[in-house]
Amino acid sequence: MKCPFCKEDSDKVVDSRSSEMGRVIRRRRQCLACGRRFTTYEKIGESFKLSVVKKDNMRVPYDRDKVVGGLQKACYKRPVSAEQIQQIADKVEEDIFRNFDKEVSSAFIGESVMRHLRATDKVAYIRFASVYRDFKDADELIDEVSQAIAETERAGQPRLFDV
Ligand SMILES: [Zn+2]
Repeated sequence: MKCPFCKEDSDKVVDSRSSEMGRVIRRRRQCLACGRRFTTYEKIGESFKLSVVKKDNMRVPYDRDKVVGGLQKACYKRPVSAEQIQQIADKVEEDIFRNFDKEVSSAFIGESVMRHLRATDKVAYIRFASVYRDFKDADELIDEVSQAIAETERAGQPRLFDV
């Protein structure tokens, strides 16, 4: 299995867990070249194939790299580690597998990414949401930002715009 960090193709399995009543096996792997850990999913009895249905109804194969790429862009210069990004991608995939078998809409993936990103880093979340959700007008964006600021302050987290 190719390492998502260094692209080396040698790893060992450190943990296996089945979910979805045993239909999906989640394996935690460690790359033997760089030592980092990543997660893969396999379906029992069939090679894992999931299509993403885009807004224009075109179908493309699901690609974890795209989810990770979007997260990396949103988290640029934010205190979110590569490991955390992989963990968010894991959570998004768990959402997908819990709900869909063969096809998932790109909208579902986007909403799932936003939900998990929101819990991790508010600035990254707003960046992602503003690109993804295509806020209809400035008021809508301001509402979302104000809400995120209020939540951040309530939680006693570092200020939102101390970048
Ligand atoms: Zn590696």
